[in-house]
This record gives sequence, structure tokens and C-alpha cells, in this order.
Amino acid sequence: MQLAIEEMQKSEERGPKVGAVIVSGGQVVAVGHCANGVHAERAAIEAAQSQRIDLRGATLYSTLEPCVSTGSAIEACSPLIARVGICSVYIGRYDTHPLIYREGWKVLRDAGVVLRDFDADMRAKMDAINAQFADHFVCGTGPTGGARFDYLLNGGNFEIQYSEADKRSILTQWICCGRDAIYAYAVQPVRVALARHANSFAEIDDPTAFNFSYTTRIGVGEIAVFVSDTGVALVKIVEVHSGPEYGSDHTSVKIEYNVRAWDDP
Ligand SMILES: [Zn+2]
Repeated sequence: MQLAIEEMQKSEERGPKVGAVIVSGGQVVAVGHCANGVHAERAAIEAAQSQRIDLRGATLYSTLEPCVSTGSAIEACSPLIARVGICSVYIGRYDTHPLIYREGWKVLRDAGVVLRDFDADMRAKMDAINAQFADHFVCGTGPTGGARFDYLLNGGNFEIQYSEADKRSILTQWICCGRDAIYAYAVQPVRVALARHANSFAEIDDPTAFNFSYTTRIGVGEIAVFVSDTGVALVKIVEVHSGPEYGSDHTSVKIEYNVRAWDDP
């Protein structure tokens, strides 16, 4: 676990840092971290395979829950881990996306892999390391603006600061929902609703009047309403590119937003 945490700090990607370690026959046989678009678990497995190491019966330590989808033709880490015969996996942190949360665990469990969690003090260390990189999350500044970002990066996070002067912000999260739509997520205590049939921000009178939950599907042209204790962010989906499975060469979402603060900070 400690070695996986050391390895995660070498990650070269934007977003959360991830490290992986493979142990076989009581020996560390390979390590990996995120680099050049390759996930840490795959990097470690490929490093072992390049040494012709038989991974059947091996144990993998990964600081983040292995993925179940890469958004491309590349095999996701969870099925890869099971396919090469790794029989035990220690997971540092479960994915924070509500839709992805525990999905890697389930794929591995269903494949017969024995699953364990990192020790709690190790999780605290990893969280401290990744907290240093929170500033790298894509950000917008209100009260009005627009952005285009790859929702597969940074855990789909897009943080909207109320204004240049008002440093308060609302965190929005986005995840693939196929063609011409996207799932909006709210992280507690923020909640989200679809402003159904509203075409413009001006049509929304009281943004707290909607039916709120932690997630909702937003189609292109529709408006998501994120509400917190201090204000509301209205986010219109202008364009969605959902990757090769849905006829696009990349993944991105284009948004316009409007922030309404309830009062001055
Ligand atoms: Zn992965």
C-alpha cells in the first residue's frame, strides 16, 4: 500500500493521481502510475508482461478503484485485471462518481477476484496527496460564462466560482449518457434538477422550485439547476460529444452558465 502511494505521486495526468503495485510470490514484480493516457493498473500489468511474468494468482494494489470503461476501444482495467488472472485486489479509494462508484469492485467480484480495502490511514495519505491537485480541476467564473471540457478528465468535475469578487463556488459533475445528453451530478449538500422545457435562463423564475435529486439526465439544449446553501448555478448543455461509441472522435461537453448568489459573502 505504501509503495502504491509512492508510485501514485509520479502520475503525469491531470486529475487524481493513481498508483498500482503487483505482488506475486511474496515479491513486488511490477509498479505503475498514470502516464501518457495509460492507467496505473494497465501500466503495472504491461510492465509485468514485458518481463514475461505470469500474473495468475498475483495480488494488485491500486490507489483508485479500477475502471470499468475507458471511453475508447482500450480494455478497461477491471476486466483486464480479471483476464490476466490476478486473483486479489486491494482498492485504495472507490470512484466518486455515483454511476461508477463500486462498479469496478463489482466487475472484479463477479469475476471471482478477492477484494480488500486499503487501511484507513493509507486512505488519509492518498486523500492528502490528491487534495494538493484539486486546484487543477477545470473552473469557470460567474456570474455568466461558457466552457468546453472533457468530462472524462478530473472525475467530470467542473467548478463554477460565483464571480471574480465572490470566491464561493458550486461544484458540478458530469458523466457520459450516450448521444446528445449527459448526466449531471451534485455532490452533497448541492442538489440538481432539470429545468424541464426551459429554453433560456430568463425563463427560470425561482430556481429552487424544481424537483431536486443528486443526479438527472440533461439533453442538449436543456438546463440543469445546481442549488446550494449560498446560491444556484444554471447550466445549459449546448453540445455533447460522447466518444467513438456514439459517433464522435472525442469526449467533451460545451456549456453556458449563469450563477445567482443568494446574498453577499
Ligand atoms: Zn483504468
